[in-house]
Amino acid sequence: MLIVMAADASREDVAQVTERIVALGLTAHPIPGAQRVAIGITGNQGAVDPALFENLPGVLEVIPVSHPYKLVSREAKPEASVVHVSGVPVGGGNFAVIAGPCAVETYEQTRTIAGHARQCGAQILRGGAFKPRTSPYAFQGLGKNGLEILRDVGREVGMPVVSEALDERSLELVVEYCDMIQIGARNMQNYALLRLCGQARKPVLLKRGMAATVDELLMAAEYVLAGGNYDVVLCERGIRTFADHTRNTLDLAAVVAVQRLSHLPILVDPSHGTGKRHKVVPLARAAAAVGADGVMVEVHSDPARALSDGAQAILPEELSQLLQQVAALLPLTGRHLAPQVRAKG
Ligand code: PEP
Ligand code: MN
Repeated sequence: MLIVMAADASREDVAQVTERIVALGLTAHPIPGAQRVAIGITGNQGAVDPALFENLPGVLEVIPVSHPYKLVSREAKPEASVVHVSGVPVGGGNFAVIAGPCAVETYEQTRTIAGHARQCGAQILRGGAFKPRTSPYAFQGLGKNGLEILRDVGREVGMPVVSEALDERSLELVVEYCDMIQIGARNMQNYALLRLCGQARKPVLLKRGMAATVDELLMAAEYVLAGGNYDVVLCERGIRTFADHTRNTLDLAAVVAVQRLSHLPILVDPSHGTGKRHKVVPLARAAAAVGADGVMVEVHSDPARALSDGAQAILPEELSQLLQQVAALLPLTGRHLAPQVRAKG
């Protein structure tokens, strides 16, 4: 259920509605919008009686939410959400480019790639320190040391950083060292981890599971919002199909589907979505053209020696091309490149 407040409702009116929700043993989620505040209700097992709220001062409308996801839906909040990642706005017209290596390998490797990414206009630096690898014998990431490198490099070049959390312990470290928490495809339905993200005070980049529907992706995001963290950015990263010309099948229609159903920003990851370097820039262009709110791409200066995902890493010069080409397409969908944070010093 959603309680829509009148445009001129006072803070006291909102507080009174919230108190009534809490008194019923339910949870209230005030959702500020451009025109009015809406208050989502969660925690109810059955239907809530609209009469309990309809006559309270400042209440415009009480509407049942028809989708199983309540807080992430456009019904709850008609305008697009903007998620701020330590000064970088994502969504609401701001197209963000998250770039960096699949995995943090060394300080020099990360610093070189980050310097280039910053210079050509990318706003957020990525780098895995806890890697979910198919093989237990493959490089698993540098762990805490990798996060230290990523944080230091991010500060040096002036880019907020994002890294993946795999479990409770790595989540604590990612929250401590990074500006954004990445939840990977393999953990999209790790509900215990999603609940912990709901309590975290950092934005979350939630990647679509490789066999997840759009509804399942939105329900996963709902876990985070229901826990009290409204700063979620979704990411389409390809799904498993019979196709064998790419690592995954990048489902760009999911971007359009998500934007119709939800106010949350959605990015596209053409690196994992294709698995092949030569496909990354073309599919990043497609992401911009379809109206995504950004891309996440893997970059390496020496992909042949990369410790993970070298085959899909683009070269630094290809990242420059990507940014130029994407920037040229963004006006088509009323978007622009998100501003970079101001570098210190
Ligand atoms: C990644 O971004 O490094 C990653 C492991 O992606 P995904 O979870 O989409 O496979
Ligand atoms: Mn990778």
